[in-house]
Amino acid sequence: MLRFQSCCRASVLHHFVSHYSVTKVDKPLEKVHHTKLFINNGWHNAVNGKTFPTVDPSTGKTIVQVAEADKDDVDLAVYAAKQAFKLGSPWRSMDASQRGQLLNRLAELIERDREYLASLETLDNGKPFSMSYNMDVGETIKIYRYFAGFADKCHGKTIPIDGNYFCYTRHEPVGVCGQIIPWNFPLVMQSWKLAPALATGNTVVMKVAEQTPLSGLYIASLIKEAGFPPGVVNILTGYGPTAGAAIARHMDVDKVAFTGSTKVGRLIQQAAGESNLKRVTLELGGKSPCIVLEDADLDQAVKQCHEALFFNMGQCCAAGSRTYVHESIYNEFLERSIERAKARRVGDPFELDTEHGPQIDKRQFDKIFDYIESGKKEGAKLVCGGVRHGDEGFFIKPTVFAEVQDNMRIAREEIFGPVQQIFKFKKIEEVINRANNSKYGLAAGVFTKDLDKAMHLTQVLQAGTVWVNTYNALGCQTPFGGYKESGNGRELGEDGLRAYTEVKCVTIKIPQKNS
Ligand code: NAD
Ligand code: MG
Repeated sequence: MLRFQSCCRASVLHHFVSHYSVTKVDKPLEKVHHTKLFINNGWHNAVNGKTFPTVDPSTGKTIVQVAEADKDDVDLAVYAAKQAFKLGSPWRSMDASQRGQLLNRLAELIERDREYLASLETLDNGKPFSMSYNMDVGETIKIYRYFAGFADKCHGKTIPIDGNYFCYTRHEPVGVCGQIIPWNFPLVMQSWKLAPALATGNTVVMKVAEQTPLSGLYIASLIKEAGFPPGVVNILTGYGPTAGAAIARHMDVDKVAFTGSTKVGRLIQQAAGESNLKRVTLELGGKSPCIVLEDADLDQAVKQCHEALFFNMGQCCAAGSRTYVHESIYNEFLERSIERAKARRVGDPFELDTEHGPQIDKRQFDKIFDYIESGKKEGAKLVCGGVRHGDEGFFIKPTVFAEVQDNMRIAREEIFGPVQQIFKFKKIEEVINRANNSKYGLAAGVFTKDLDKAMHLTQVLQAGTVWVNTYNALGCQTPFGGYKESGNGRELGEDGLRAYTEVKCVTIKIPQKNS
C-alpha cells in the first residue's frame, strides 16, 4: 500500500542509509544519459531540431537541454505505434503471459537502477530523495508488477443469450493510446498509464511533462532493454499546446489518457470530440475536504491533515486542502497544526532527512504567492509561513491560514502548493454541505471514532475516494479518480483496466440437428 505519510521514514530508506552510511546523496548531474525522443525503440532529435531546458527546482538552474517534439514528431511516433499494433506484428502475436513477463522484467530493471532513478527524479522535480527512493520508485515497481499479473487474466464472459446461440465477450486492446502526464509524480504517473495499457496489449505514445522529462526517458531505455518490440512504447518530450495538443487531435490515436489541470482536461475532451471521438480518461484537479469531528483522535488528525496537504510540497491532486475542524476543538487543532508546520524540515532535497523540497518551477512558485496574497487580502489569518525559504530555487515555507471563509479564493481554487486552509464548523449536516459545495470531487478525509458518523459521511461525500482516520492511503489495487470536474474514469485496480479495453460481443448460431 502506498502510505504517503510514512514514506520518509520507511524501512527501505533505513536499509539504504545503513548500507551506504551517508546523510546526503550526490546529484547525478553528469549522469543524464537520455535527452532525445524515444520512437520505435530508437533515439531521435526533434524533426525541427528544437530543444528546451529542464531545470533543477532547488537552484533554478538548467540541468540539460531536451528535444522539443512538435506535431511532426507526434506523427512519427503515432505511425510507429500503429505499425506495432497491426495484427500479425510481434506485439499482437505475443502470448498475453509473455506481455506480463516483459512488464515484470521492466520492474526488475527499475529495481536494479532504483538509486539512480530516485536521484534523477529528485534532480529534475525537487522532491526529497528519501521520498523519490521509497515512495515514487518503490510504488512504480509495484505498479508494473501488479499490472503484469493482469496481462493473462483479462477474461470475457460467456452469456446465456435467448435462442440457440453461443455468445461470449472478448476484452480487446483499444489500439494506439495517447498519454499525457504531469510533473508532480513523473515516474508514478508514467506507470499508472503505461502498465495497464501494456498489460492489455495496446501501444502507446506518451508525452511526459516539460518540467520533468528525465526519469521518463530513462524508463524508455529500460523498456528497450526489457525487450518490448519497437513501436510499442514511444516517449516524447515537449510542450502541451504543441506536442500534447497534436496527440489529443490525432486521427490515428484511439484513446487519450490525461492527468493535469481541469483547464487542459477540457481542451483534451474537446479535441477528442472535434477529431475522431477517441476515448478519453481524465484525472484532474481537486479541492479535497478533511473533516475533523469533535471526538477525533486529535494527535492523529493533526498529523494526518498536515500530511494530507503538505505531502509532495502540496503538489498533489488529492491534497486535503480544506481542513474543516469542529468548533469545540478548533483552537487546539490550529495550535498543533502550526507547531507541526513550523517543524517540517525544508531544505536540500538530496539531504536524507529533508521532508520538504522546492516547488516545481517559477510559475507555480509565483502562482502560490499570488494565492497567499489573496488569502491575506480577503481576510484569512496567516498564522505560519507565507514566505520564501532560502534565496535560491523555488522553496516556500509551510504556510497555514486560519479563519478561512468558504467564499475566499484560497477556499475554492486549487493552490497546488504548501498552503493549508483551516475552517471552523458547528454541525455535521452543515459541514457535509460545505464539503460538497465544490466543482471538484476527487477525495475526502473523515476523522472520528464514531462508526455511525463515519458510515454516514462516507456515503454522502461526493468524492472518488474517501479515507477514514487516514489520508492518501492508496495503492495499485485501489481505483482512483474523480467525481464532477475532477475527471472521468478510474485508474489503478481492476477498474483501471476498463479504460484500456474494448469489449467485443461475439454471437455464433449453434446449428440444430433437425433444422
Ligand atoms: P497542465 O494541465 O498544463 O499540464 C499537464 C500536462 O498536460 C503536461 O504534460 C502538459 O505539457 C500538458 N498540456 C498542457 N497544455 C496542453 C494542451 N493544450 N494539450 C495537451 N496537453 C497539454 O498543468 P500545469 O500547467 O503543469 O499545472 C497547472 C495546474 O494544474 C497546477 O497548479 C495544478 O492545479 C494542476 N495540476 C494537476 C495535476 C494532477 O495531478 N491532477 C498535476 C499537475 C498540475
Ligand atoms: Mg525539471
